[in-house]
Amino acid sequence: MTDALAETAPTPTEEVQAERPIWPAMVRGWRRRCPNCGTGPMLKGYLKVRDSCPVCEQALHHHRADDGPPYLTLLVVGHIIGPAMLWFFVAYEPDPYTFMAIFMVAATAMSLWFLPRLKGMLVAIQWATRMGGFGQGDAPSDVSR
Ligand SMILES: [Zn+2]
Repeated sequence: MTDALAETAPTPTEEVQAERPIWPAMVRGWRRRCPNCGTGPMLKGYLKVRDSCPVCEQALHHHRADDGPPYLTLLVVGHIIGPAMLWFFVAYEPDPYTFMAIFMVAATAMSLWFLPRLKGMLVAIQWATRMGGFGQGDAPSDVSR
């Protein structure tokens, strides 16, 4: 009996942390919501990540999104715009200025739409996987040390 308890009880050095499923967190991040509660806004303004969630007080200042969101935005928008430009040019043979105007506006609009969503998703992935400071046990739902 005492052996079974000794095997299940965490040692003093082991952390007891709440589980953070990655897919719901990614969806919440895509919606630019707090990855912990899903209701509080993650971003202040267009791209600035709040220091903490106004609803659940989850600390968000630990994020290190850095160049990840623009990289992912270029990757996604480039893979959509590139084939679309090729198809449009072959199908309609447009005037070069018309062609340029259409795709410059489309690429800019798509980039502006994707960038905050991909940033939210990246911050949520960092939160769910406890990257950087997100694993320090400062979340209100985490068991305190
Ligand atoms: Zn929250």
